[in-house]
Amino acid sequence: MSHPVKVIAIDGPVAAGKTVVGLKLASRLGFQFLDTGVMYRAITWLALHQSIPVIDNVALGRLAQQTTITLVDQAGSQVKMGEHQVGRELREPRVEQNVSQVAQASEVRQALVQQQRKLAQEGKIVMVGRDIGTVVLPGADLKVFLTASPEERARRRWLDLQARGSSSDYQQVLQDIEWRDHLDSTRSNSPLTQARDAVLVTTDGLEEDQVVELLFNLVRERCGRQE
Ligand code: C5P
Repeated sequence: MSHPVKVIAIDGPVAAGKTVVGLKLASRLGFQFLDTGVMYRAITWLALHQSIPVIDNVALGRLAQQTTITLVDQAGSQVKMGEHQVGRELREPRVEQNVSQVAQASEVRQALVQQQRKLAQEGKIVMVGRDIGTVVLPGADLKVFLTASPEERARRRWLDLQARGSSSDYQQVLQDIEWRDHLDSTRSNSPLTQARDAVLVTTDGLEEDQVVELLFNLVRERCGRQE
């Protein structure tokens, strides 16, 4: 029997848990997974590496147009671009601080959205980002808007940083998250917003696996409805 839910879009703000949850859901369903944030981070890293000013939309667009981003693994922890292979670099503070600026450039978005749609052509994919349900895959079979309060997201991000040995300050993490949320939701091209037909899932107080279970049940419900 064919799977009536083939394309799943998960959008939401910074540190809502989209990647971890999306990856687990994809593996449970036997689907591909694509974290589109990694692609924006990769172009940001490359721009910084080539000393391209992050406010030069035309040069950034040209760079994105000329660069094929290949994810070495599903989680996107390693990415290949020409002769470069980067992983941890994509989470460096300088990338973190500049990525939302780079992602505002329509020229960059156009090039990356094209690559993202191509990757989704075969179906059976969970794609996560900010504009997947609204712009990249508006016809997705299931759209989820995953969110949590800024404080909860900052707490999770802060714990994560602590676990990785970073001595970051909670208030600073909260401020950075709120700043990126602001940039992502107020930009003119493809702002972060919940698609009208997306299911809102608020994850405050929920464990990762509970969220995965919830999404898995949404998929099952959808399948039941369409069969
Ligand atoms: O999801 P992640 O935090 O890795 O994304 C990094 C940044 O990339 C986001 O803050 C946002 O500015 C941008 N992004 C985007 N559209 C997407 C995915 C990410 O603008 N689909």
